[in-house]
Amino acid sequence: MTEQNLFPGLRIVLIETSHPGNIGAAARAMKNMGVTSLYLVNPLEFPSAKANYRAVSAADVVENAIVVSDVDAAVADCELVIGTSARNRRIPWPLLDTRACAEKVVAEQRRGMKVAILFGRESRGLKNEELQKCHYHVNIPTGEAYSSLNLAMAVQVICYEILQSSLRQDGQAETFYATRSDRRDDDAEAENWDMEYATAQDMEHLFEHLEQTLVQVNFHDPKNPRQLMTRLRRMLNRIRPDQMEVNILRGFLTAINKKCS
Ligand code: SAH
Repeated sequence: MTEQNLFPGLRIVLIETSHPGNIGAAARAMKNMGVTSLYLVNPLEFPSAKANYRAVSAADVVENAIVVSDVDAAVADCELVIGTSARNRRIPWPLLDTRACAEKVVAEQRRGMKVAILFGRESRGLKNEELQKCHYHVNIPTGEAYSSLNLAMAVQVICYEILQSSLRQDGQAETFYATRSDRRDDDAEAENWDMEYATAQDMEHLFEHLEQTLVQVNFHDPKNPRQLMTRLRRMLNRIRPDQMEVNILRGFLTAINKKCS
């Protein structure tokens, strides 16, 4: 039995981890901070005695880990997806610092939303297509000479900030927010919203439908994609449409499909 999950809506997603020891060390880092839900996307070697060994008293987190075969399956039901990255990408994405990330994660999961934080491969991090599924990226500041942390250490820093943020928000949420100047408008907005945010799966279906329609009207050539879909993904993830808004857009696309067929 997993005990004391302080953040039931939050999952840590490790993608194609090559060293099982890192899975165990990440599980320990999580449980130390009260986070227990672990998803593993295509781990190279799992289950593994090395993972349990490195987890020490967090072996339950390893044993309860959910193994899936692709990222979409790990985040399908999530309304907030955050990617961790040691590098800046060509097309910059909305970026949170580690503390702002923690504030957002704690606040949203307390409102009942499902939140995923993605961690990449030891060898080459997250692929662009995985980063493009995210609403935000988070980067742990480092010395210039070496910016890539060990996977489990990166999990530790992110989960540490989440626990600290949760302790700060406990029982004193109003005074805490009232005195903070960096509270984002979208935090306030989400609290009063009348609809659920779209999930990652709703967004993937929308992007597929949008791309097909752009091809149908000859606006988009998949053989010469440039950065069109990347930019549209960034725009729509930045807006964070709710489920009704996604339904309206899908309906609009269907009307275009009918007109053009
Ligand atoms: N060599 C890879 C880094 C792999 S480190 C690269 O260049 O991208 C493994 C994972 O740990 C990364 O994918 C990321 O999820 C996390 N990580 C490592 N350093 C980080 C940092 N400075 N900020 C945020 N995440 C980091």
